[in-house]
Amino acid sequence: KKMALPVPTQPVEVQELAESFNALLQTVNDHAVQERQFTSNAAHELRTPIAAILTHVQLLKRRAAEHPEIVPQSITFIGEESLRMKQLVDSLLTLSRADRAVLTMAPTDLAAVVQDVVVTERLLIKQPLTFQGTATLVMGNAESIAQILTALIDNAAKYSPETAPITVQISTTPTAHQVVVKDQGMGISDAHKAHIFERFYRVDAARTPAIAGTGLGLAIVAQLVKANQGTITVSDNQPRGSQFILSFPRQQALSEKISE
Ligand code: ADP
Repeated sequence: KKMALPVPTQPVEVQELAESFNALLQTVNDHAVQERQFTSNAAHELRTPIAAILTHVQLLKRRAAEHPEIVPQSITFIGEESLRMKQLVDSLLTLSRADRAVLTMAPTDLAAVVQDVVVTERLLIKQPLTFQGTATLVMGNAESIAQILTALIDNAAKYSPETAPITVQISTTPTAHQVVVKDQGMGISDAHKAHIFERFYRVDAARTPAIAGTGLGLAIVAQLVKANQGTITVSDNQPRGSQFILSFPRQQALSEKISE
């Protein structure tokens, strides 16, 4: 009879180490897949306008002499597609900068930032835009908070009828100061809510073919929010539309400062 050798059981630490190593590998792998996907999306998005521009350049070369009437139309088209490419490249650059951005944080009055953005946005959008809120200090970077709010208000306007009001409110919970942007537009279904902050994600481009966009706006917002150590969530507005809630942690020292 052979004697069975005792099987050494692995110490718990080794098992835990192996598990966290596997988890790490998985994360690195997921990240690599996402990066490949991102590069491929970006290339594809740029390829489309480039192809369209080339087609019109060819058309102009071959036909313009005989058919001068096509010239203005082709030039307009080339201009529009070039603009689309420029916006996309600008967004990609913003995204790559925001990734590494170390922002200068300072006590910032949310109300003052919102007020500035609202004044500018009123000139740019058709919908009535109202603001409610009093001076509220948070630790953050004013310029990038303005950028975040501009993007949220632009979206609210883009995805709402021209007469549907948009509101911006500052409110305070026991733990956070918040800026809430509400619209009464088409809203976002729960299945899509989880994805809209992803790069290049657009809810059903077929639903909104007339609305130009790259799907990068909210990805930039998410990065800027993170750089400001804030959080952002989206939920349904009542009775219709969406609301985006931008939150900053409350800090005792800042509350005292504002009441001085
Ligand atoms: P886009 O350039 O397509 O607007 P974003 O990253 O800003 O890209 O937004 C991603 C998607 O989220 C949009 O395509 C749109 O479908 C949806 N979305 C964003 N904001 C709103 C909103 N206020 N109401 C309805 N849908 C929205």
